[in-house]
Amino acid sequence: MNLQEAINNLRAPQGVTTMIGALLSGDSKPVHHSKGEKVPLKIAEAKLADLIEKQNNCGSDWAWWGYNGEIVYWKALVCILKAAKITGNDNLPDIDTPKYNANSAVMDLQGQVEGYGKRILLAAQRKEHVKELEKVLQCNCDLDRWEPKRSTGHSHVCRIHKRAMEWKPNEDT
Ligand SMILES: [Zn+2]
Repeated sequence: MNLQEAINNLRAPQGVTTMIGALLSGDSKPVHHSKGEKVPLKIAEAKLADLIEKQNNCGSDWAWWGYNGEIVYWKALVCILKAAKITGNDNLPDIDTPKYNANSAVMDLQGQVEGYGKRILLAAQRKEHVKELEKVLQCNCDLDRWEPKRSTGHSHVCRIHKRAMEWKPNEDT
């Protein structure tokens, strides 16, 4: 998957009540829809920080949820851009794309968007960690029944695969 494909899978989900609240109040700032924007990581991080600040200072539920739709979008975008720094723009891990369902609750949609970005970043970090493990561990893949996993490039019996799947990145990376 390349960077643009990953970004195209992102949405900034907003709820109907958010839209109505915005219309009634005449303030539609928090319901701007972001979609498919490819920006430098620094800009995405600044945009995210700005939205979180606005959400912290907003005065109504509808505005809070409006900002939250944007925030999960930018959070996911930051994760994807970080992942692309690790893997290169054209070599992002293939992750199942979110199944957006119009009947889903706004909270579920927002969780899907955020989770999609997190999973891409984790998969990219894990692939990078496999390179480190390969330097110190002997691969014991079953070469007669060679079925490498997408996540690590090693088969499920291999110690490198097992160690890589147990591994978790630091929260602050
Ligand atoms: Zn192996």
